[in-house]
Amino acid sequence: ALRDPHQPEFLQAVKEVMTSLWPFLQKHPRYAEHGLLERLVESERIIQFRVCWVDDRGQTQVNRGFRIQHNSAIGPFKGGMRLHPSVNLSILRFLAFEQTFKNSLTTLPMGGGKGGSDFDPKGKSDGEVMRFCQALMAELYRHLGPDTDVPAGDIGVGAREVGFMAGMMKKLSNSASAVFTGKGLAFGGSLMRPEATGYGTIYFAEQMLYRKNQSFDGKSVSISGSGNVAQYAAEKALDLGAKVVSLSDSDGTLYVKDGIGVDMLKEIMDLKNVQRGRLADFASRNKLSFEAGKRPWHIPVDIALPCATQNELDHNDAETLVRNGVLCVAEGANMPSTLEAVDVFTRAGTLYAPGKASNAGGVAVSGLEMAQNSQRLSWHHAEVDERLRAIMKDIHENCVRHGSRADGSINYVDGANIAGFVKVADAMLAQGVY
Ligand code: NDP
Repeated sequence: ALRDPHQPEFLQAVKEVMTSLWPFLQKHPRYAEHGLLERLVESERIIQFRVCWVDDRGQTQVNRGFRIQHNSAIGPFKGGMRLHPSVNLSILRFLAFEQTFKNSLTTLPMGGGKGGSDFDPKGKSDGEVMRFCQALMAELYRHLGPDTDVPAGDIGVGAREVGFMAGMMKKLSNSASAVFTGKGLAFGGSLMRPEATGYGTIYFAEQMLYRKNQSFDGKSVSISGSGNVAQYAAEKALDLGAKVVSLSDSDGTLYVKDGIGVDMLKEIMDLKNVQRGRLADFASRNKLSFEAGKRPWHIPVDIALPCATQNELDHNDAETLVRNGVLCVAEGANMPSTLEAVDVFTRAGTLYAPGKASNAGGVAVSGLEMAQNSQRLSWHHAEVDERLRAIMKDIHENCVRHGSRADGSINYVDGANIAGFVKVADAMLAQGVY
């Protein structure tokens, strides 16, 4: 905290992990030796750079680009690029720190990284987005490589942006080595990567529910966000027989009491991914309820899935959800619940899964994309889906192993943090102090 007083999100993420680790470290003090914890919170390398590009009116625009190469103890740095006006060092360091534990949990050999820019893709033409991505890569390319650092998508970075970045990477490096995941299927992408984070979140929640002899069938589900993660979480929840009552964006919440059906979801996917439209317009065109400026947490549901952004669910929201009898909260986004909200869920005995466990399916399939690229092979849809399911089941079991409490309940926060930590810590200890 003394070193990074102006990085609240990073400190929040560190506090959550250290709180989980503390009792574990008392029992296993060797994990606190050789400055291990101090090294774990210090990023191996941070790159910040100017990104200049020319907009459609001929005006020069200047943005700030970042890449956080946080920890490479178990493999090359790996983590998405985020394009959003809120992007700053604190947000990217929290994400890179979380990513280190998440990647460890997947069991695949990937270190933790994250990057992005304060560029806002909203309202920009395809040409502007392309010129920005190319300008960003003009600097970033020299810091990437298939065995060094392999970025992917995140907020504001989908197939279009990954395509522009990966294309420029190939041009500048004169190499077709795959240094992005989330690529299009025509140039080395993996089947199931678009679905992976949303589906993985549902597979994880399914495991939590099974332990309580419950399932998604017939349950009501609220989802925040309407981007990549939210869309596919909704799709899989519907597939398992749940009723999805909400999606949202930064303008507010689309609330459909009778449930968003498969056809309506398809229309929303087209609206968001192709037309790049807004939910409010969709609601007004279709005479549906849109709650401007509101998040979905006041809606009484069995299962809540925050899939938009960090700190979008605070302790008041958590208390409302608990009061309304929520059974399970599984995070598709990274750190969407504040520390106080997590505390409310823990005290109430709500089944609560932190993002670093429940949303790890995205980076897991990114790891599978890297494996396919190395082999110059493409696996079938069913094969990737089966591996994703197996990985989410393994992560769940690992959380249960490290998060079981005396009363038989599972603290998934402790479970994920300890399980993720042990592998990274063992690797760091084995490789000496550097
Ligand atoms: P997208 O850009 O596809 O979608 C983001 C969604 O969240 C949009 O609906 C957006 O609304 C909304 N949103 C973004 N910022 C805010 C905000 N400040 N307030 C309210 N709503 C907001 O991103 P993803 O779906 O890829 O990512 C969502 C979350 O999941 C992030 O936390 C990301 O880090 C996490 N994640 C993503 C993975 C992936 O594979 N994509 C993997 C693991 C985690 P609007 O359009 O109005 O901005």
